[in-house]
Amino acid sequence: MGTLSLGDLTKVFQGDNGDIVAVNGLDIDVEDGEFIVFVGPSGCGKSTTLRCIAGLELPTSGTIRLNGNDITTKSATDRDMAMVFQNYALYPHMTARENMSFGLRMGTDLPKDEIHDRVQRTAEMMGIEDLLEKKPGELSGGQQQRVALGRSIVREPEVFLMDEPLSNLDAKLRTTMRTELQELQRRLGVTTIYVTHDQTEAMTMGDRVVILNDGELQQIGTPLECYHEPANKFVAGFIGSPSMNFTNVQVRSERSVLEHEQFEYPLSDDTLSLIREAGANDALTLGIRPEDVRVVPEETESSFPVTVQVVEPLGEASYVYFELDDGVTYTVSVDGDTVINEGANVHIEFPEDKIHLFDGASGEAIK
Ligand code: ATP
Repeated sequence: MGTLSLGDLTKVFQGDNGDIVAVNGLDIDVEDGEFIVFVGPSGCGKSTTLRCIAGLELPTSGTIRLNGNDITTKSATDRDMAMVFQNYALYPHMTARENMSFGLRMGTDLPKDEIHDRVQRTAEMMGIEDLLEKKPGELSGGQQQRVALGRSIVREPEVFLMDEPLSNLDAKLRTTMRTELQELQRRLGVTTIYVTHDQTEAMTMGDRVVILNDGELQQIGTPLECYHEPANKFVAGFIGSPSMNFTNVQVRSERSVLEHEQFEYPLSDDTLSLIREAGANDALTLGIRPEDVRVVPEETESSFPVTVQVVEPLGEASYVYFELDDGVTYTVSVDGDTVINEGANVHIEFPEDKIHLFDGASGEAIK
């Protein structure tokens, strides 16, 4: 079992210029065996939350429960959790084997044979048997990270806590390790909290993602829920690459359109009802993902003309950039085979089932 609950978790630091609210009233329930990814921009409070869960930081208020038991003030060593750090934190003078067994030798009274067997089994599972007699200085970054992971696995904890564990690896190795880690977590079935600022890791690894900004929970859901139904403009802009395009528009109910100085976007009755139900005022933000904008050869009722500024061919897709009259840059992702030249005049269209609407003031999602 490894269910974890954060109840109104808050951490305030005393800074030179007053209080810094690093974590602000987080309520999160993690299920047994779940892989949860905490993601958000630098300074959003991910690491502080993880450190509170690990017992390395004492929350200012709120509770942390493991399997229903309040562990908020329990010492880190009594929490039955294993943490994997970005810098691996291996002891340089010990071999990989000694590093992996250290926690068990010091923190438990397991017999030597059992410790030896556990290290051996884990090393085999992770394909690092050949590295066991080597010291960290003789290992590559990827190998060190495997040893660090192995060290946490041998402890057979209730929860794994991982703070950007792949960020010191090169891009290719990071991709490989991402898949390996996911497979490993599924096989072991151990509840895992994984912190990253990389939204690709969040999208691909987590059963659910927790999106934070300024210490506050923005959304918790499966990666696809957060992608398709972002709770607000922040989540919409943070999840998805390249980022969602945003434009400020005015609702003109009498004409059933969204008005922008360069185009009028016709609204269906359903969308108009959603806007009314949300009680938003007339200033909205229209959002559309680069992959959802359609480039059409000829003018249609809902298209408008733009001039292509830059085209970035990436092979499989090309990113096409243009600017609206109000200075907002738009990105459109088109199939790599599509021929569009810089300077070309094209028409673009926003399919209604793909547009997102946000309250212009609060940023809350309306559609
Ligand atoms: P990053 O991805 O850059 O590590 P993060 O999302 O993990 O960022 P935290 O490290 O949790 O963010 O920091 C959240 C906020 O708390 C930041 O404003 C940070 O400056 C502040 N903070 C963190 N630790 C301390 C500390 N010990 N004393 C004072 N302020 C702190």
